[in-house]
Amino acid sequence: MTALATPRTPAPIGPIPTTMRALYKHHAGTALRLDPARTVPTPGPRDVLIRVTHAGICGTDRHIWEWDAWAASRIPVGIVTGHEFVGTIAAVGPAVTRYHPGQRVSAEGHISPGTGFNARTGSAHIADGMVILGVDRDGCFAEYVCIPEENVWPVHPSIPDHIAAVLDPLGNAVHTVMEAGVSAKTVLITGVGIIGLMAVTVAKAAGASRIFVTDIDPRRLALARRLGAVEAYDTREQHDKSWIDHLRAQTHNGVDVLVEMSGHPAAINDGFAALRPGGTAALLGIPSKPLTFDLTTHVIFKGARVLGINGRKMFETWYQMEALLLSGRLELAEIITHQLPMAQFARGFELMQSGEGIKVVLEVG
Ligand code: ZN
Repeated sequence: MTALATPRTPAPIGPIPTTMRALYKHHAGTALRLDPARTVPTPGPRDVLIRVTHAGICGTDRHIWEWDAWAASRIPVGIVTGHEFVGTIAAVGPAVTRYHPGQRVSAEGHISPGTGFNARTGSAHIADGMVILGVDRDGCFAEYVCIPEENVWPVHPSIPDHIAAVLDPLGNAVHTVMEAGVSAKTVLITGVGIIGLMAVTVAKAAGASRIFVTDIDPRRLALARRLGAVEAYDTREQHDKSWIDHLRAQTHNGVDVLVEMSGHPAAINDGFAALRPGGTAALLGIPSKPLTFDLTTHVIFKGARVLGINGRKMFETWYQMEALLLSGRLELAEIITHQLPMAQFARGFELMQSGEGIKVVLEVG
């Protein structure tokens, strides 16, 4: 990746204003609104206040924008949205010891209460009582965001802003691929949206022997090939599922690893059909409702290992992601398709909805 070249000089920290521009959910319906004078949050004793410079628009933000059934059931009206960002620390609470104003940082957006069983046994990413930035509490589509010190991730100076703004979804891809284990293995990635495409470059960098992908969008399939997939199957064209036979013929009767990124029932069933006996499936895509699945054939008799993947491991995934980025082997330039000033947020959502854009990054301040 060429984009790792230029170290960035942090912008100087000025006085913190009392109000800021912020995108918030103004009603129980579609779209977001820009509030020109939202109150800047005050950091608690162990919080860090970050001046946001760049923020990524996520699929989750699209659900919130479109106000689907999930968003309507989960999102409090009035909340500032957004959870993927990079910025500069503007102020720290009096008990913060590890960070200081001026540092360039991103953050883990899953905020764990830190006291329960999972939080204390290395699984904070699936802890009870998890609160998510921009979903359950005010997020980063704003000039300032406040988060606990434990969630701060200092960004290496050679990682540019537009990439530092999307560490959250890149971390999803890294967590899924690393958990499955792909080194010297054949891998099928079902669904090459943003995170699926990231998974292609991550799997390649992590030493996958051959990568196969499926999707229904020819442009994304073509991009997956450029990122390293040896076969990119258009499942809308291949109704007869002949691609599964084609894939089996090139492997040991199926791939070693299935990375499921679509959440689509047909893709999940077909993905398991293309998994070899004794293979591993790592599932990140979220089906919109319960689905019919042949557990007997696909898991039990196949002796498959099935891994549910949620978020990013705190902070093992973040260290792995940094190592992969610094290796220069991740190809993200074609995945991050647009950068727009925050004022053009509506255009950003439109680009994602139309499929013209893949990852869109907002320039916040
Ligand atoms: Zn996200």
